[in-house]
Amino acid sequence: MIKLIAIVQCHIVHERCPGYFCDRAFVKRTWGFEGLDLDNAVRKLSFTCGGCCGRALHRKLILLKKKAKQHDSIEDGEILVKLGSCISKNNYHGPVCPHLNYIKELIQKTGLAFSCDTHISKKAEAGRTAGIYKNGNCEE
Ligand code: SF4
Ligand code: SF4
Repeated sequence: MIKLIAIVQCHIVHERCPGYFCDRAFVKRTWGFEGLDLDNAVRKLSFTCGGCCGRALHRKLILLKKKAKQHDSIEDGEILVKLGSCISKNNYHGPVCPHLNYIKELIQKTGLAFSCDTHISKKAEAGRTAGIYKNGNCEE
């Protein structure tokens, strides 16, 4: 049962994007949030990878784990890290994050579970299906 979702967004994309669609997908439980085993009172917070190459993410997540446990008794197994679609998907704006594998390795070192995608644009998905945007498989 997930009690806390930590959305990670691309630091560069976040210079422009306020993350509205990530939040919308979470509230509506659509796209990357569909079918998750969520606690009724699940909480969500968003932050960026910290900038290329994403190394800051490790210390952000370590601190998050510590605070969640200390203050709200949320265990590591009750936290899910969500990689925003601007990291995990190829679309009009750019290919998947060039440091995706490194970022996944950093998350794995924290011992937290992760999954890919937040909001999925229908137009971008059509482009990926048509092969216009070649999609790396983020979950691998
Ligand atoms: S996934 Fe989309 S809405 Fe979320 S931060 Fe990235 S660009 Fe913004
Ligand atoms: S490491 Fe990837 S997700 Fe982070 S700022 Fe660079 S391109 Fe964006």
